[in-house]
Amino acid sequence: MNEILRATAAELAAKIATGEVSSVEVTRAHLAQMAAVEPRVHAFLHVDGDRALAAATAVDAKRAAGEKLGPLAGVPLALKDVITYRGAPTTCGSKILEGWYPPYNATVTECLLANDIVILGKTNLDEFAMGSSTENSAYGPTRNPWDLDRIPGGSGGGSAAAVASFEAPIAIGTDTGGSIRQPAALTGTVGVKPTYGGVSRYGLVALASSLDQPGPCARTVLDAALLHSVIGGHDPRDSTSITEAVPPVVEAALSGDVSGMRIGVVKELGGAGYEPGVAARFNEALVLLQRAGAELVEVSCPHFEYALAAYYLILPSECSSNLAKFDAMRYGLRVGDDGDRSAEEVMNLSRGAGFGDEVKRRIIIGTYALSSGYYDAYYGSAQKVRTLITQDFERAFKQADVLVSPTTPTTAFRLGERINDPLAMYKSDLCTIPSNLAGNASASFPCGLAPENGLPVGLQVMAPAMADDRLYRVGAALERELASEIGGLLIDELAAGAAGEYLGVKEAVK
Ligand code: GLN
Repeated sequence: MNEILRATAAELAAKIATGEVSSVEVTRAHLAQMAAVEPRVHAFLHVDGDRALAAATAVDAKRAAGEKLGPLAGVPLALKDVITYRGAPTTCGSKILEGWYPPYNATVTECLLANDIVILGKTNLDEFAMGSSTENSAYGPTRNPWDLDRIPGGSGGGSAAAVASFEAPIAIGTDTGGSIRQPAALTGTVGVKPTYGGVSRYGLVALASSLDQPGPCARTVLDAALLHSVIGGHDPRDSTSITEAVPPVVEAALSGDVSGMRIGVVKELGGAGYEPGVAARFNEALVLLQRAGAELVEVSCPHFEYALAAYYLILPSECSSNLAKFDAMRYGLRVGDDGDRSAEEVMNLSRGAGFGDEVKRRIIIGTYALSSGYYDAYYGSAQKVRTLITQDFERAFKQADVLVSPTTPTTAFRLGERINDPLAMYKSDLCTIPSNLAGNASASFPCGLAPENGLPVGLQVMAPAMADDRLYRVGAALERELASEIGGLLIDELAAGAAGEYLGVKEAVK
């Protein structure tokens, strides 16, 4: 048991392929871990153990018959509940979609199934992926396995917490402004936002279509790369999908060679407002990367300062349009349909009851920013800023092969701490948003624990579009150097330390 839960996805797949362990055993172990920790963590909104075991049984039968298996065949996975999976509900963390069963699979889901990955269930998120703490879920918050009084980040707090609490070795997230990377940083896990268009958005319920991107969550760099290679690639059903082949992410994760690589430290993403422990671990990560042969340069991206403001005009504008389809007429929640009320009244009542405060706030802001009198002043200006940010990246990537910053200004905050202060909440994504606006590849890798509170800190790495492999090169180098410093993976501290006991990890893995 212990060994199964602590193993990486790559190790599990290798053992399943040789028959040393069965996918059914591996799946059972993870379902047992869920039973032990879910009452405290609440990473999942929906789990279907029978279906997962049936899928695992099918993988074991394929192996026994000598059929060819994919690189992660038989490995259990957690799927963010904003991606459709036929036969399971998709709620997007919202009451408006409660009980909705999608009639189709997302392309990401199809890729997972085609590769014999075992889907355990759907993970919790901020409603329609709007938030940085998972507290905006209509089904209650997820808690951070490192400290159950703290948030796991958001919107993909469920996927990150599932991986961090050993309920699943790998998970799928989506990142519109940081929802894969910020939760990864706050839970000591790996999270990658691939280049926009690198992974299909078909079947991902849209938040902001020009920013959304699905990607892998894992405990190791190689596991993330393997999952990236499974879900990446061209999809004719997504008109923004890139036709080029997936960059060589697995090779990069295996090599971890950064010798001679120029790493650009972004001057604007640091300084005042960053917790001392975050700054300390970030600076140490730079030293480790230098030790691994990388060269550090300072770069300036002067327009990053306006990224948050531009994002909070572009995202609400797109989401006000994307969420118009939840009108109670075709599917989803319907309130007040008593035969006397008009369709418009039923729409108003349903949207009023079905959407939470943050979703309503953004629909109102977006509708305002797009209105004819204000379009140029707000939406139009934000799009110009978006171009300036893209140009900052282009200039910086002439001086450096990748750019780095802390992933988040602070470590995980306490539940309730920022929920009534949207601006404080929005600032969690200060460092992650520029990559969404520009569409380039970006990731967060664990770089240690903040000395003041023992909570994880993430290093953000940003690479040019379609140079996703560079992220993995840097991530693997950092993982190797950090492991030699601390004697293993950072995440193992959670399983071994006090937090592990608190979680029930120890009881469950005996
Ligand atoms: N926290 C950001 C927001 O609330 C990012 C969300 C996301 O990436 N889905 O918009």
